[in-house]
Amino acid sequence: MGTPLGSVAWIHGARDCRQSTDPLIQVHPLDEDTFVLRVSKCFSFEANFLYLLLGEARAVLFDTGPRPDPGAGDRVLPIRRVVDEIVARWLRCHGLDAIELVVAHTHGHGDHVSWDREFQGRPRTTVVPPTLPGVQRAFRLPDWPDGEARLALGGRTLTVLPIPGHEDSHVAAYDPRTRSLLTGDTLYPSLLTVRNWPAYRRSAARLARFAEEQEVAQVLGSHIEMTREPGEAFPLGTTHQPGEHPLPLGAEQVAELHAACEAMGDAPRVDVHDDFVIQPLG
Ligand SMILES: [Zn+2]
Ligand SMILES: [Zn+2]
Repeated sequence: MGTPLGSVAWIHGARDCRQSTDPLIQVHPLDEDTFVLRVSKCFSFEANFLYLLLGEARAVLFDTGPRPDPGAGDRVLPIRRVVDEIVARWLRCHGLDAIELVVAHTHGHGDHVSWDREFQGRPRTTVVPPTLPGVQRAFRLPDWPDGEARLALGGRTLTVLPIPGHEDSHVAAYDPRTRSLLTGDTLYPSLLTVRNWPAYRRSAARLARFAEEQEVAQVLGSHIEMTREPGEAFPLGTTHQPGEHPLPLGAEQVAELHAACEAMGDAPRVDVHDDFVIQPLG
């Protein structure tokens, strides 16, 4: 709808956040049933991207966002209100009374799950516990990290793939409608921190195989930490990012990540690429 995702003017913090008039969450419709939400850098330097996808039977929200930075005060991220407003408007447009909501997560890190409690007790809502057993049970993935699951929203069905490595319960989700692959903190224009290298290497291979088999028009992650300069990241923790790298990556970066992991084999190291930096930990 309008602006292609690669040239959206995202809120990107401010030199002085006290002067910022940005909303705490920016809503960008990818199409009339798919919304990309960006959290303000003046709320949390993590500035997560959250994804809301709607179908005739249910909507799914991937991630509920970060806690405020210490300097940002005791604020609540208005994710519940933003989601409720989008869903209410969508229901009116479709002449429907209600749909279910699944609150899921790309993975269980704090900046992705901190507002789950806002959705506890919401009618017709399931909050997937952000743990490996919780994710396995909710998506029916008994053979983790093998297997894949279907999440039927009604009129569109997502594929959910285990991709542990950055974190144990990490999943990717593929939406055939927008041909978007949601990759969380596993692949995005940022520093890709890897806690479990063998698992991550396997997940990179899995994503590459998937992107060869499916049409992937855009790879959408959870943060932007790279500048538009090849291989150059912003200082970690900054709350002002003018000139950010575009959000979407493509199937070519999925292949590039896989090739880089294979090239390093079982001796991972910091590996700088134009659009991301692989950063094994420990
Ligand atoms: Zn993470
Ligand atoms: Zn994150």
